[in-house]
Amino acid sequence: MTGDGTRVVRAGLPEPRANEPALPGPAFAAHFHLPGEVTGPYTYGREANPTWTALEEAISTLEAPGGGAGTVVFPSGMAAISAVLLSRLRPGDTAVLPGDGYQLLPALRERLEGFGIVVRTAPTGGDAQLAALEGARLLWIETPSNPGLDVCDIRRLAGAAHREGALVAVDNTLATPLAQRPLELGADFSVASGTKALTGHGDILLGYVTTLDPELTAGVRAWRKVTGAIPGPMEAWLAHRSLATLQLRVDRQAATALALAEALRDRPEVTGLRHPGLPTDPAHELAARQMHGGRFGCVVSFALPDRAHAERFLTALRLVDEATSFGGVRSTAERRGRWGGDAVPEGFIRFSVGVEDTEDLVGDVLTALNEAGGTAR
Ligand SMILES: *Cc1c(COP(=O)(O)O)cnc(C)c1O
Repeated sequence: MTGDGTRVVRAGLPEPRANEPALPGPAFAAHFHLPGEVTGPYTYGREANPTWTALEEAISTLEAPGGGAGTVVFPSGMAAISAVLLSRLRPGDTAVLPGDGYQLLPALRERLEGFGIVVRTAPTGGDAQLAALEGARLLWIETPSNPGLDVCDIRRLAGAAHREGALVAVDNTLATPLAQRPLELGADFSVASGTKALTGHGDILLGYVTTLDPELTAGVRAWRKVTGAIPGPMEAWLAHRSLATLQLRVDRQAATALALAEALRDRPEVTGLRHPGLPTDPAHELAARQMHGGRFGCVVSFALPDRAHAERFLTALRLVDEATSFGGVRSTAERRGRWGGDAVPEGFIRFSVGVEDTEDLVGDVLTALNEAGGTAR
């Protein structure tokens, strides 16, 4: 099997054909010509589209290099997450969700409970989900978690969930399929926001669901058809175009994130520093077993003493945009507490490392810390 860099350049693309582009242009909504007996996959624009198919095949080969996966793309990560939870769960079913996962999960929980679904939550770290699994129909995990960067053991939890008869879905957004392949570890669904590191330019929203079971894929595909949650062709095309640089971006971001975490470790004003690549991080041992190629993600989380200190730090950064989201080629950072959704201290910073030169970025952060702490000369 070829390496990741070679795979991402060709993933989902047709064999080169004379006078044709390597990546065929986006197919916009159109009447497909359907004379006589209809035999092809493309009939009406909401059901399937050649631009989505190419992207879906690309993501399938990344999530499951061994083959056999099916992917359904969505217009956002939330559309993908909702598709799995809302299509699989019925009134009276029990679902286990992370208590410290993506900030919209509590809002989704309210919806699920409104439909008569019982929701239990468990924190991501330390296999705490095991105790919540009894009688559950679906286990949702997010590893590494956003923004706390805790990690849980996918293989162990999937085994335990399957013994209870529960399906297992993993939010693979932060890792990307180049770093973590949940389906190989026993999960039934790998779900992600493609808005973040997968596409990496901060200019599109996208989501996907990948499974190895054709019946599960068909269920998700049917959900997309009835809810009409379909991605625009231009977004799907741009996402596919972005995949060619995935390995370069993910490797650079992981290396710089680790260098940044190491520099922050020595700072007295920094507390609660988390990055799964840091050998001293509580999640490192498990992350190193479960994630590939030293790719521990682009996010570094830490806290400064208080809100004002964190705001001074963000203002003093010159190479880093104050922005939400993560995984883009430009470094971004934000004081997460401004949204009010996460259980984090007021001075908590979620830092997303871009692809700038490592020395420039680490230097900029250290200078900004000095300025924020009043120690600049
Ligand atoms: C951003 C994010 C989502 C939601 O994705 P959107 O594309 O913004 O809808 C879900 N899970 C995680 C872990 C995320 O970071």
